[in-house]
Order: sequence, then structure tokens, then C-alpha cells
Amino acid sequence: MKAAFFKEHGGSDKILYDDYRDPVPDAGEVVVRVRACALNQVDMLLLDGRFPPPEGLPHVNGCEVTGTVETAGGAVRGLARGQRVIIFPGFSCNHCEYCLRGERTVCLRYGYLGAHKDGGYAELVKVPVANVLPLSEAVTFEAGAALPLAMLTAWHALVAQADVRPGQTVLVQAAGSGVGSAAIQIARLCGARVMTTVGSDDKIQLAHDLGAEQVVNYRQRDFVEEAKRWTGKRGVDVVVEHIGGETFERSIYALGRLGVLVTIGSHDTHWGRLDLRHVYSKNLRVLGTNLGSILELQQVLEHVVAGRLSPVVDRTFPLAEARAAVQYVLDRKNKGKVLLIP
Ligand SMILES: [Zn+2]
Repeated sequence: MKAAFFKEHGGSDKILYDDYRDPVPDAGEVVVRVRACALNQVDMLLLDGRFPPPEGLPHVNGCEVTGTVETAGGAVRGLARGQRVIIFPGFSCNHCEYCLRGERTVCLRYGYLGAHKDGGYAELVKVPVANVLPLSEAVTFEAGAALPLAMLTAWHALVAQADVRPGQTVLVQAAGSGVGSAAIQIARLCGARVMTTVGSDDKIQLAHDLGAEQVVNYRQRDFVEEAKRWTGKRGVDVVVEHIGGETFERSIYALGRLGVLVTIGSHDTHWGRLDLRHVYSKNLRVLGTNLGSILELQQVLEHVVAGRLSPVVDRTFPLAEARAAVQYVLDRKNKGKVLLIP
């Protein structure tokens, strides 16, 4: 098959588009013909070596995949060749203490499609049958590929972790990102009021269209001051943070008393300072979260089918132009998701 892969770490110029080993399914695995694969910030960490692929190089990125069933291992039942599917990207062991508690996202042997295994920047991808869900005809392959990581992570962060309630105020960092554009919509669906940040004025209208009441260009104005102004000095109830560094540090200052910061990524840097005085004196909570459950992905799919959530797809690139697609995301030009189409 053809794939876009890399043999050494670096920038987008390290991505090669060439022949790659065909995936061969074990008894309980399915090979899916990729119809759309979304890019994610974690792809950039895998590429530049800040998060080296655990199985080594060469490596194929791509966590968010929709496609059709191509072949299946001997133990797989109930899937027909050509069936439309969406892939749940998290792998868990089913045996450790956390899996037995039902908390699979903190499995001791947790892994991601496209990180711990070769992913969807390819014509074919291999996954355990437990990770395969049917994809309704009502959801395009392109829209579906924006759901399994970005939309699901934002859903789990806001609904399950932060427990957002009607009337609360939520600050979502980076409206133009996949996670940001999803989080704004989900917070609105929960009945919350939303403020968000953008890095360029051309993303302001998108943020309003998604349901944000207040939009701040963080390069021009201080989002902490704006959050205080927007809430009448009170501070917001919830912050969705996925940037790290100074954005993480300052997001704490935007919170009101009893506020919650959910951290779901570290796209600029893995590090962030924390002013502990704010945490204990205001009784803040800092919650880490990653991905969500397969059940939650099904719930997200139902909301998408019903039109209550709409994944934002900025543009698609042919798989052969993966290098250009990655550079487009690295340059932060995207408003929503960027997809590769084999
Ligand atoms: Zn486990």
C-alpha cells in the first residue's frame, strides 16, 4: 500500500509518501480501507520527536480514521467487507486494575492508533475489532474523521470531567483547533456560555458561528483581563486548556472560585507553571483527561447525526500531499480539522 510515513524526526520535510508494508490482521483484528484521516497536534509531537513513537521508526501517524472494512481476521464476526466504519483510537489491555474498574483511558498499557501503532496516513490501517464502530450513512467520512479524538476528548473533558452545567461560563482555548471548535459546541450544548481565544482575526467569525459569545485575539489582548471583564470580575467556571506553558499558567488566573481547569493536551510545551496560592485559596481543581469511552463516541455520533454537533472541517489534502497538510497545521492556518484523503 501507499502511506505517508517518516524514518527520522524533524519537520514536515521528513514525511515520505511511498510504498509501505501492508497491514496483516491477527485473528481478532480488522483491516480498514482509509477514506479519511484527520491530522492532530499529537501527530506533530510524534513527528518532531517530542513524543517519539513507542514502537520506533519508520512510523505512520494518524489517530482519527473513517473508512470501509477491507479484510478481517478469522475470529471476527458481524462485519461485512465494504461496511462503513469509524475507528475508536484508544487501545487498552482489558486486564489491569484500571481496565477492570472500567477506566480504560488510564490502562497501564494504554495506546493510541497512530502513536503506539501505525495509523491512518495510509491506504490501509489495522485495528482490533473492539475498536470498530459502524458509521451511519448520515455522517460523511470527512465529518466522521473529525470525531474520534478531537470531538470525543472535548466531550469527555466537559461532560464527564468538568460536569458543565447550564449557565456556567467556559473559556475554551484556541477556537481554530479541532479540540477548540468541538469544545465550544459541546459547552453550548450543555447550556453554558462560552468565551474563546483565537490567534488571528480571520478566525473570529468562525468562533462566533460555533456559539462563542466572547472571542479574544490573544495576540492583541490579555485573555485573563477579558475573562474577568466578561464575567464581571468573577472569573470563569471552567477552562479547557490544551496549549501548555504560559497559556496554562495564565488560564488558572482566569478561573473564579471553585473553578475547574481541564487539561487535555500540551501542544506548545509539556510544561506549565502553577501559582499554588490561586489553587488552594480559591479551591480550584486541575483535572487531567484524555480521550473518552467508546460509549461516549457513540453518544457524540448520535448528536452529529441529529445535527446538534457539527465537526468543523477546514480542508482536505490528498494523502500524497501529506507533507503540505502537516505544514499547513504547523503554520496554524487551519480553522478546524485538516484531513487526508487516500
Ligand atoms: Zn488495562
